[in-house]
Amino acid sequence: MFDFHMHSRLSHDSVTDPAAMVKAAERLGLIEICFTDHFDRTPNERWTDHIFTKEEYDAVYGNIASRSVKIRRGVEFGLLDSNVGENYDIEKWLSPDFVIGSVHYAEGEEVYQKPFWEGRSVKESFTAYLLEELKLVRLHRGFDVLGHLNYACKTPNNPSGEPLLYPIHKDIIDEILKTIVDKGIGLEVNTSGKDKVGMFLPDKDILLRYRELGGEIVTVGSDSHDDKRVGQYAREAAGLVGSVFGYVCTFEARCPIYHKI
Ligand SMILES: [Zn+2]
Ligand SMILES: [Zn+2]
Repeated sequence: MFDFHMHSRLSHDSVTDPAAMVKAAERLGLIEICFTDHFDRTPNERWTDHIFTKEEYDAVYGNIASRSVKIRRGVEFGLLDSNVGENYDIEKWLSPDFVIGSVHYAEGEEVYQKPFWEGRSVKESFTAYLLEELKLVRLHRGFDVLGHLNYACKTPNNPSGEPLLYPIHKDIIDEILKTIVDKGIGLEVNTSGKDKVGMFLPDKDILLRYRELGGEIVTVGSDSHDDKRVGQYAREAAGLVGSVFGYVCTFEARCPIYHKI
């Protein structure tokens, strides 16, 4: 099985050494993993950039190897109005196998934090998140999959703890899906929503719609920030993706590889 969304101590929000995460992947019998550390600029000076240099990357990953698990180089690139094209610059020095494009800020606020949710209903906050995501996928190119499409619901300050559901936000989600299909961008199934809101991000209904609109590229990632969550629900998620597409994707040198399920 595969885990194509993992953060080690190179990311600001993880303290785990990648060697421990590789060991966990070996124990689980995973075939292939990809470290996708945060490269997050910020929309304004109230927040701190969470980025890394080639030297920092090499210092953390220089000696990482495994006999049984293929280890890919990746990055989770935070999409903003103000960083269109920076992913192409990163490519030049990182040579990643895989680039996730993710939205972590909306309307100038970090979606993870309370101010984003204040003064409106949860539904309005979800709509604000999706509108930001739509704007950003329209602006950006050059990433391989859209990360955790319905991320907003899993953040700790979502006051309802409820999932962001497709039927309620169908119109905007359809526009997001049409945009990524037109650009040849894939979709990630992020398993971290399972324990937080009871579903994958996104789940089956959105995968079916993505396929219906012509989408073909789907990866699975745990979004683990420590060795305990490596590969969590990866088998179940790959089974779900397989039931819709007949395969699940990994990436090498920015090209999708299709694994029959
Ligand atoms: Zn993310
Ligand atoms: Zn992540």
